[in-house]
Amino acid sequence: AEDATHKQAEENLLRSPICCIMGHVDAGKTKLLDFVRGTNVQEGEAGFITQQIGATYFPAENIRERTKELKADAKLKVPGLLVIDTPGHESFTNLRSRGSGLCDIAILVVDIMDGLKPQTIESLKLLKMRNTEFIIALNKVDRLYGWKTCRNAPIVKAMKQQSKDVQNEFNMKLRQIVTQFMEQGLNTELYYKNREMGETFNMVPTSAISGEGIPDLLLLLVQWTQKTMVEKLTFSNKVQCTVLEVKVIEGHGMTIDVVLVNGVIHEGDQIGPIVTTIRALLTPHPMKELRVKGTYLHHKEIKAAQGIKITAQGLEHAIAGTGLYVVGIDADLEDVKEVAMEDMKSVMSRIDKSGEGVYVQASTLGSLEAFLEYLKSSDVCIPVSGIGIGPVHKKDVMKVSVMLEKKKEYGTILAFDVKVTPEARELAAELGVKIFIDDVIYRLFDQFKAYICNLKEEKKREAADEAVFPCVLKIVPEYVVRNKNPIVLGVDVLEGIAKVGTPICIPQRDFIDIGRIASIENNRKPVEIAKKGQKVSIKIVGSNHEEQQKMFGRHFDVEDELVSHISRRSIDVLKAYYQDDLSREEWKLVVKLKNLFKIQ
Ligand code: GDP
Repeated sequence: AEDATHKQAEENLLRSPICCIMGHVDAGKTKLLDFVRGTNVQEGEAGFITQQIGATYFPAENIRERTKELKADAKLKVPGLLVIDTPGHESFTNLRSRGSGLCDIAILVVDIMDGLKPQTIESLKLLKMRNTEFIIALNKVDRLYGWKTCRNAPIVKAMKQQSKDVQNEFNMKLRQIVTQFMEQGLNTELYYKNREMGETFNMVPTSAISGEGIPDLLLLLVQWTQKTMVEKLTFSNKVQCTVLEVKVIEGHGMTIDVVLVNGVIHEGDQIGPIVTTIRALLTPHPMKELRVKGTYLHHKEIKAAQGIKITAQGLEHAIAGTGLYVVGIDADLEDVKEVAMEDMKSVMSRIDKSGEGVYVQASTLGSLEAFLEYLKSSDVCIPVSGIGIGPVHKKDVMKVSVMLEKKKEYGTILAFDVKVTPEARELAAELGVKIFIDDVIYRLFDQFKAYICNLKEEKKREAADEAVFPCVLKIVPEYVVRNKNPIVLGVDVLEGIAKVGTPICIPQRDFIDIGRIASIENNRKPVEIAKKGQKVSIKIVGSNHEEQQKMFGRHFDVEDELVSHISRRSIDVLKAYYQDDLSREEWKLVVKLKNLFKIQ
């Protein structure tokens, strides 16, 4: 009896771990969640799953029942498992409660037939950034050719039922995926073969269609969290709460959906950072079938971990993704506010001081941070001049439009997982503000990258006539074919790049201009450019009457060098669009010519 009491006490000390599901689109996140949840959702009874706000709660009894084939009973110390309902939403691992991740553990779903995909890698980055534990579900094992269904069976048992061919194919896919993870700097292993848990990440083969491996996944989630996160999961009186969503509900006005991560929250509690008093604590009505739209259960108090809807005054100022704080009797309101501001500060520090850059709008503070982090770590530098949370409105477009005059490409809003109002869209089209929308980080980023590349190419084309490549040419006396306009000469490219279109001048003869290179022939074949060391024939055509009068043998001669006539403007154009087209040596020549022409 004493043992039982002891166990009871221990159970009361731990809260339920919170889990979220991530992975590439179509990996099976939704299906997996539906499957895990789908069986026996019959509420109000012990051991049955309950639907909460934004989450599903699995009591320990339910997990015990479903994993009994794994002979794991009596080893569960947590009261249950809370799974966040919106899968695939990257921002979920980024929702925070007091600086750390909202989720204690994540399931990273990988399609066993497809292996790692861009979003899998993106998810991995986010998990690493947040230091969040995770388990890999190798989903869709039932798609291995010839798979024999073993409904809801533990994976080892299911695997034993399979033919040699299926097992071979499985092992082959597994090896490929292990290698792909290794390329991402991660060691992985099937969980039942993993001898170095913690260093080597666990993989569980699953099927979201027939349920093989689901018991293993559930058990591993619970066992791993209660084994390694005792401190984090210890029940505390300090409230930790994260806002998932801010929305209007008919009959309740503005409400917030929150996940209470730790502590107890009461009706009438004063909360911050928007200082207000909780009017009602709501959860969905348990009798689902009888549920009238918009009816909720009211609670006097709720203990973590749970998903709750809160109603109160002033909630329209709440920000999804930020923490919510309860002001205790002895707590200093200023302290509470300061903690709330900390979250915002880390994001603000990413804004470019120059005031030039794109505008980033995201759904939550966490997703905003994740996107900014991604921008920072990318190979192209994209400065950010402003940020916002929530839908893109007209006023945001107005703000961004001033950037158009400074730099066209920065007159852009990157809308990460947020809506754009029709009015904002209209105004943007009118003013020329670009809005890119996506709910996948890398796709949004790639859209914008493609846009700036195009813009650059376009400008480069427009400026092509003004770009002057540097060259120094020496006349080959025996190859002077025509001595006046159009002049045709054999030349040695002494330095730099001779390019069609380059204006040519003779520094030794008072810098006279003799025309532009109209064509170049190398071994009788027309070419666009000739580089240092090449011998080519060039045709020079005078652009005006004066130039057309210039004659070889009269105005200049064999000993004179022909040089690109550069200018301040031509140097600027080269710098802006042709940075990578010139070698270091060629840039040195630009500097040399700049001095020769006494350009400031
Ligand atoms: P999500 O984008 O990651 O949420 O992926 P979904 O859950 O929407 O699944 C994408 C597609 O894969 C759907 O057609 C599912 O029916 C299918 N699917 C998901 N899991 C499995 C699985 O375990 N086995 C098989 N055969 N199909 C699956």
